Amino acid sequence: MTTALPEHIETVIVGSGFAGLCTAIKLDEAGRHDYLVVERDSEVGGTWHANSYPDCACDVPSHLYSFSFAPNPDWRHAFSRQPQILDYLRRVARDHGLTPKIRLNTAMTGAAWDEIERRWVIETSAGTMTADRLVLATGGLSEPSVPDLPGLARFTGTTFHSATWDHDHDLAGERVAVIGTGASAIQFVPHVQRHAGRLSVFQRTAPWVLPRRDREYRAIERRLNRLVPGLQRAIRARMYALREMWLIGFVVSPSLLKLGERVALRHLAKQVPDPQLRAKLTPNFRLGCKRVLLSNDYYPALSQPNVEVVTDRLVEVRSRAIVTESADGTRSEHPVDTIIFGTGFHVTDPPSASRVRGRDGRTLAEHWAEGGMSALHGMAIAGFPNLFMLVGPNTGLGHNSIVLMIEAQVRYLLDLLSQLDANGLAAAEPTVAAQTGYNDRLQRKLERTVWNAGGCQSWYLDANGRNTTLWPTFTFEFMRQLRHADLADYEVQPATTTPRERIPA
Ligand code: NAP
Repeated sequence: MTTALPEHIETVIVGSGFAGLCTAIKLDEAGRHDYLVVERDSEVGGTWHANSYPDCACDVPSHLYSFSFAPNPDWRHAFSRQPQILDYLRRVARDHGLTPKIRLNTAMTGAAWDEIERRWVIETSAGTMTADRLVLATGGLSEPSVPDLPGLARFTGTTFHSATWDHDHDLAGERVAVIGTGASAIQFVPHVQRHAGRLSVFQRTAPWVLPRRDREYRAIERRLNRLVPGLQRAIRARMYALREMWLIGFVVSPSLLKLGERVALRHLAKQVPDPQLRAKLTPNFRLGCKRVLLSNDYYPALSQPNVEVVTDRLVEVRSRAIVTESADGTRSEHPVDTIIFGTGFHVTDPPSASRVRGRDGRTLAEHWAEGGMSALHGMAIAGFPNLFMLVGPNTGLGHNSIVLMIEAQVRYLLDLLSQLDANGLAAAEPTVAAQTGYNDRLQRKLERTVWNAGGCQSWYLDANGRNTTLWPTFTFEFMRQLRHADLADYEVQPATTTPRERIPA
């Protein structure tokens, strides 16, 4: 009896969010049509499909939070809502003819590098496939993190995370607990306040909140975007430059951030008349240390009579209550019917890293266990030939659009592939020296930034306090560094030699 060989594809891309779609489009444009996008969800969109919580929106301006090669003249708001971004991604996928190349409801469950065949063996929920190259476009914010609260399993009410919102669950009249006060929570809390009978917001750290300068674009503006050549590009360039300027405060002169803090404190004072509540909501770290939040309706929602902001430590969940403990040891029980977790994602310990095994048979998570996440240019990793992780370590931004970083990485990938082809090379992985040198330089740059030295705990830092998530400087510097791949940074395998003949480029 013969066993059918697994399907072989030149490039498998995991994920169909901004990063996955961008890779597919650019591979096509370069004439590299043998690729497949596998998507665990039932639709394209990645994080913009998963995060459908009420009033989910983007806090980066619409004209900037879109592909440079696919401008959208019809954005309806200065800051787009999730459904509009999802529509945009669907349209981009359709317009670029990607639909037949995207396999939905197909999760990658594991991948291992086969050193003999020099290919990736990829296990998916729909079977095994092999690929010359594996592009992980799974995003840094894709695996919900739910705290392991004592007693949570005994809770008899409803629980869900912001990224897996239960739209069938009616909050009307319920006692609802929201745990977390990050970028997601501040967007859905006003909705919950309007619908729930009683809302308890459990806040561990008060975030900095600035006014959101949002507005609806007028029809005439949308028409002009279509009619005036270059207008949208100019709008985008202006937004880009303004956003880049935030970085001066974050990394060059943190004292400048005091200006932003004054604006935020005025916003708080204007929107929260009660001095006790205001004190609870006043941050105790430098603005920028965590993501700066933008909202006009979060503080007013917290000021409503059906809301309490709880700052005591969470100690336990009971069958229908959450128990907290104050600084003096007093315990209080807060009755709740539904708990909504706005507690973020596994960023510095992504589960996808436990699913991918490199040349030595160890997983990415095992490679990163000691020193934390690390890669060359946030995408290529020593020991993992032909693995390209988009928006990997140290590519996150606290100030600008991640789409810029994605496009830079995809350009770099295409350049690297051309060079490999031109030199008759089959596989490449960064040398340990190139990867280590690159990361040492990054870490030195990060030392004095507000993210490392701003006096807060955030998902930017891993368990060892190392910042393995953010790009430390201007985005144009990232784009400059990724304009061309330098083969000297790589160990390569010629197409015709045996695996043992791996040579430094
Ligand atoms: P997040 O920013 O990580 O916030 C998580 C919140 O949960 C924080 O307030 C955190 O408190 C709290 N928390 C976590 N574990 C807890 C525990 N064990 N006990 C009590 N509180 C706990 O998560 P997120 O709001 O989902 O946002 C994640 C990222 O997604 C954002 O930073 C942003 O990059 C992205 N995002 C972007 C947009 C956008 O508009 N573009 C919108 C939503 C999200 P501490 O602060 O004390 O840690």
